Amino acid sequence: MDFSDTRIAFQGKSDAELRKASSLFSLFNNPGLNRFGTKATELALKAGLPIESLLRSTIFPLFCGGETLMECMETVLELERFGIITNLDYAVEAKQSESEFDVTTNELLTILDYSARYKSLQFTSIKISGIARFSLLEKLKAERSEAEEAEWQRVVNRLDSICSKAVNSDVRLFIDAEETWIQDRIDELVFMMMEKYNKVRPIIYGTWQMYRQDRLSHLKDSIEQAKNKGFWLGVKQVRGAYLEKENERALLMKYATPMQLSRENTDRDYNAGISLCLDNPNVVALCAATHNENSVSHALTHKNALKKTTHLSFAQLYGMGDHLTYNLAHAGHKVCKYVPYGPVREVIPYLIRRAEENSSIAGQVSRELTLIRNEIKRRKNP
Ligand SMILES: Cc1cc2nc3c(=O)[nH]c(=O)nc-3n(C[C@H](O)[C@H](O)[C@H](O)COP(=O)(O)OP(=O)(O)OC[C@H]3O[C@@H](n4cnc5c(N)ncnc54)[C@H](O)[C@@H]3O)c2cc1C
Repeated sequence: MDFSDTRIAFQGKSDAELRKASSLFSLFNNPGLNRFGTKATELALKAGLPIESLLRSTIFPLFCGGETLMECMETVLELERFGIITNLDYAVEAKQSESEFDVTTNELLTILDYSARYKSLQFTSIKISGIARFSLLEKLKAERSEAEEAEWQRVVNRLDSICSKAVNSDVRLFIDAEETWIQDRIDELVFMMMEKYNKVRPIIYGTWQMYRQDRLSHLKDSIEQAKNKGFWLGVKQVRGAYLEKENERALLMKYATPMQLSRENTDRDYNAGISLCLDNPNVVALCAATHNENSVSHALTHKNALKKTTHLSFAQLYGMGDHLTYNLAHAGHKVCKYVPYGPVREVIPYLIRRAEENSSIAGQVSRELTLIRNEIKRRKNP
C-alpha cells in the first residue's frame, strides 16, 4: 500500500491548520528549542504559573480532542466522516488518592455509556496508574501490608466494573503498558480480566512493548496460555514510550537494562510479534499501534491480514501518523485514532511525550514535519 498520498492523509485539514501544524512541528524538530520548551513548561507547571492559555492555543489542539468528552465529539464525528474509529482516551495521569481514582473510573464508565450510542466509538483505553497508586503497583503481592491488600482489591473492583461495562457496551478496552517495574502487576490484572471477559469475543486487550528484550517470548507464552485456557488474547502491540527513563533507571540502580540494545532489535521483534499474532487468528486479536510505515506494511503483506475472520486493527495517536490512518481507512481497513482529552494542566505530561517524540533525530527533519511540508507544497502546485 502506498502511504505517500498526502492529499488523502490531510483531507481533513484546512490550509490554515496545516500551516499552524507546520510551525509547531518545526519547533519540536529543533532539539535545543524542544528541550528548552519542555523544561520551561515543567517549571512553569511546578511554579503554578498560568500556562494553560498558551498551551490551549498551541500544542493542546494539535494532540488532544478537547478538555471534556463533549468537546471531543466534533473530532469524533469528523473522523467518522472518513471511516476512522475513535478511541477516547482520558489522558489524566499520575493521580494519588482514592477519590481521584474513583473520578477516573467514573469518567471511563461515562465514556463506555456514551460509546454504546455512537458507532465510531468502538474502542477506549485505560492506564492502570490512573486507577491505582503507582507505589502500590511497584510492590509484589508478598510485600503488601493488610491495608495494601485491601487497596489492591479496590483496584481490581474498579477495573472489573470498567471491563464489565465494556462487555455490555460492546466496546474494546485497551489497557496501556507502562514502566517495566510496575508492568507485572498490570499484566496480572490484564490476564485476570481477559480470562473472565474474553471467552466469547475479544474485548479486553493488554499491551506488549517490543522495545523490551523479553516481550516476544512473553507473547509466545501468552498465546499458549490463551489456547490452553480458552480465551481470546487481545494484543495491542507498541514499540514503547519510556526508553530513556528505563535505561536511566537501570544505569542508576545498576541492573541490566530490560530494553533492546538497538533500534534494529526493537523493529525486528515488533514485526515478528505481528507475524506471530497473525499466524494465530483463532486465538489472537491484534491492534498494531504504530506510526511506523514499515510495520504497517509488514502486517498488510501477511497471508491472514485480509481474511474476514482475522481480528486486525491499526491505531495511531491524534495529531500523528495521519498518512497511515487516513490511507488505511480509505482502503477499507479497520483503523482508529487515539483521541486524548482532559483539563489542559492535567494532560501536560502526555503533551511533553509527544513533543519529545517529534524532536529531530540525528539532524533529520521529523516524519510528521516532512509529510506536512509535502502537502503544503502539493496544495500550492496541485
Ligand atoms: C495508538 C497508540 C497507543 C500507544 N500506547 C502505548 C502504551 O500503552 N504504552 C507505551 O509504552 N507506548 C504506547 N504508545 C507509544 C508508542 O510506544 C510510541 O509512539 C512509539 O514508541 C513510537 O513507535 P512507532 O511504532 O510509531 O515507531 P517509530 O517511531 O518508528 O520508532 C520509535 C521507537 O523505537 C524504539 N527505539 C528507538 N530507538 C531505540 C533504541 N536505540 N533501542 C531500542 N528501541 C529503540 C522506541 O520505542 C521508540 O519510541 C502508543 C502509541 C500508539 C500509536
